[in-house]
Amino acid sequence: MNTIGETMKFSIWQIIREGLKGNKNWPSMWREPSPQPAYDVIIIGAGHGLAAAYYLAKEYGITNVAVLEKGWLGCGNIGRNTTIIRSNYLLPENEPFYEFSLQLWEGLEQDLNYNAMVSQRGILNLFHSDSQRDDYARRGNAMLLAGADAQLLNREQLKSKYPFLNYDDARFPIHGALWQPRGGTVRHDAVVWGYARGANALGVDIIQNCEVTGFTIEKGKIKGLQTTRGPIMTSKVGVCVAGSSSKVMAMAEMRLPIETHVLQAFVSEALKPCLPNVITFGAGHFYASQSDKGGLVFGGNLDGYNSYAQRGNLPAVEDVCEGGMAILPMIGRARLLRMWGGQMDMSMDGSPIIDSTPVEGLYFNGGWCYGGFKATPASGYCTAHLLATGEPHPKAAGFRLDRFKTGHMIDEKGVGPQPNLH
Ligand SMILES: Cc1cc2nc3c(=O)[nH]c(=O)nc-3n(C[C@H](O)[C@H](O)[C@H](O)COP(=O)(O)OP(=O)(O)OC[C@H]3O[C@@H](n4cnc5c(N)ncnc54)[C@H](O)[C@@H]3O)c2cc1C
Repeated sequence: MNTIGETMKFSIWQIIREGLKGNKNWPSMWREPSPQPAYDVIIIGAGHGLAAAYYLAKEYGITNVAVLEKGWLGCGNIGRNTTIIRSNYLLPENEPFYEFSLQLWEGLEQDLNYNAMVSQRGILNLFHSDSQRDDYARRGNAMLLAGADAQLLNREQLKSKYPFLNYDDARFPIHGALWQPRGGTVRHDAVVWGYARGANALGVDIIQNCEVTGFTIEKGKIKGLQTTRGPIMTSKVGVCVAGSSSKVMAMAEMRLPIETHVLQAFVSEALKPCLPNVITFGAGHFYASQSDKGGLVFGGNLDGYNSYAQRGNLPAVEDVCEGGMAILPMIGRARLLRMWGGQMDMSMDGSPIIDSTPVEGLYFNGGWCYGGFKATPASGYCTAHLLATGEPHPKAAGFRLDRFKTGHMIDEKGVGPQPNLH
């Protein structure tokens, strides 16, 4: 068991040295501390919460911090997603934030000294009509204006890269694609482990199997938490619990503009390399990439009803597979190996919230819908900034809780207050 600050640097020389000694001296990646009676800051939820704790310690020097997780590290959406990272947004509140996140991904492995398998293999968003091409051209221009990379590929350019797509599908012929070369995938659970190892080394206590069951609030101020491992005192709490947001914030007597829905992910049997990038269908909801082990990792739409279950139902499986067959008929011959579900915190306008709340010392991070994995570094960074300074970080300044009252929606899809459609 290692102690605070003790961590072994991973390098080729360390691997050789440890290998020659029989690989017996690698320390555990993080401690398993019991909760202390009090902390300066407590973060609930070990997804974005781990990233927030890491940046709180690294960037703001606040190290008397605990991350409380009701399950195990990676049991939430951070370990259940389809691993896609990108910064291909349109709206001025979103695009600079997601581009900031992509830039943090680009330096993350060096920063954490941990191999998270960041793979900038590129992402293709297919379009299927003239109006959709115009829409994607506008999005690409917004990306370029925010300093991101984007290219519009026509059908011929796309065909030379992807001859195996179904270009002439009668209902949804493929006209071209919006291409972001710097998008890609990251191994999701390595991100959890990397942030946990980094935060632990800086002194953060990571406490698993510790569910928060209540808040102690006096005269409108946070004083502490009740947990399944006893009460803990603190004056600052960051809530980062995704699909459990409504349940946790209800304990502070707050109702959120968030609904919880199920989203499923699928992995096929291992195939020879066939899908070089991330690809998304523009006429339905389907996206896929190929993992380094060979499995096609894919997903699609929400199951479409409110639920706290971490598993989905068969109609959504059929819908996702139909989407896949529409563009990649070859996947019809692959066998499905695994599938699972996650609890999505769907906000009313499809965009996230990183903000303070009416309770002094209580901060909220959520509403990530099905796009929060790529946000992990920037979300952690901006939440750390909020917890340390009490002010929103400039890159997350639009993600205010009161925008649903003031009418400053960030509705990327333009579908209105319909969480299940974002
Ligand atoms: C199938 C699927 C595919 C997805 N694909 C992508 C993708 O390709 N790209 C992308 O960008 N995003 C994707 N997402 C979304 C992304 O995974 C999430 O938005 C993101 O991981 C949310 O992070 P989080 O830290 O808010 O939540 P989580 O990682 O879920 O962390 C919240 C944690 O809080 C804990 N918790 C809850 N209640 C309590 C309590 N009372 N006390 C203590 N702990 C508590 C939970 O156990 C959980 O571990 C996908 C999600 C799913 C489910």
